[in-house]
Amino acid sequence: MLSSWASHAEHSRGRRHPEPAAPTRNVFQRDRDRIVHSTAFRRLVYKTQVFLNHEGDLFRTRLTHSLEVAQLGRSIARALGLNEDLVEAVALAHDLGHTPFGHAGQDALHDCMAAHGGFEHNLQSLRVVDHLEARYPAFDGLNLSFETREGILKHCSRVNAQALEAQEPHGVAHRFLQGTQPSLEAQLCNLADAIAYNAHDIDDGVRSGLLTLAQMLEVPLFAHFMNEAAQEHPQLHTQPRRWLYESTRRMLSQQVYDVIDTTRAAIAAAGVRTADEAREAGPLLRFSDSMKAQSADLKRFLFASLYRHPQVTERMGQAKQVVQELFEAYLAHPQHMRPEFAEREDRHRAVADYIAGMTDRFALREHERLTGKRLL
Ligand code: MG
Repeated sequence: MLSSWASHAEHSRGRRHPEPAAPTRNVFQRDRDRIVHSTAFRRLVYKTQVFLNHEGDLFRTRLTHSLEVAQLGRSIARALGLNEDLVEAVALAHDLGHTPFGHAGQDALHDCMAAHGGFEHNLQSLRVVDHLEARYPAFDGLNLSFETREGILKHCSRVNAQALEAQEPHGVAHRFLQGTQPSLEAQLCNLADAIAYNAHDIDDGVRSGLLTLAQMLEVPLFAHFMNEAAQEHPQLHTQPRRWLYESTRRMLSQQVYDVIDTTRAAIAAAGVRTADEAREAGPLLRFSDSMKAQSADLKRFLFASLYRHPQVTERMGQAKQVVQELFEAYLAHPQHMRPEFAEREDRHRAVADYIAGMTDRFALREHERLTGKRLL
């Protein structure tokens, strides 16, 4: 059922440590299963997406976000003849490197690591699957296939790409030096990530009371679907929750169809026949220009009205303090970390790896234990 431009499991560039094939699963199915069984994956359930994990049971966490990205990704992959197993593996792993407390945690850790190579969550996701998971007797990490690792490393600075390239010539960082694209499956996960968070952040924003439906009627893309839904079902005016869900459902569907149609046309226009030709052909997996512009407007709205809402930024200020103070405490007293981190010689990076792996609530408990302060 796969198209010729899909990533075919039998043509995988393979794993860094060669392993015999599994009898019943292909290489990407096996990658997905390794990710699902990893420790880092289970931690996603207690990591903040936008709202702190303990603020409410129904807000998205990194785990439910990742599942939504996988669902959207698989739907689009099937329609385009792309490899659903690879899409699922990349989607489930794409946020494994996120710190506790969302972007506030990452910013704080990046500041702490400024003189030691910085901290970047994409690169950290790759570190998790390449080095930090400790589950196999013969190697560190999960030993995933090239294609899954390529999809996980969705951004990379030139400096970081050069460092990775030195360790793994012509590896997953090569494309950042060459200016080429990753597989179509990887491109799809990037876009599915944005489609997912734009939609679920509206839902969580309204649920939290920080956004209102009246405000959403000011955002053209979403307002279009709210008006359309209310015309067909006038009772929605008195059922705000259902109105929100129906509008979100319509927006998600429209965005999915838009990606499918635009990408099919782009692949045909580029005359791409194989996965490697797709890598050379520029970004093919994309929105139409009009949907891209409307989606960017929605994203700008969410930045201004939700991510920078005083109630959100106040908590994020405290979250940064937790991460900074944890960093200082472990740097001064590494024995407070688990032995495999305490014993490492690259102490700054070891502290960053240790903190990055924490769930929100473990970070808060550790912070209280080490500083006596109760924040958040
Ligand atoms: Mg994400």
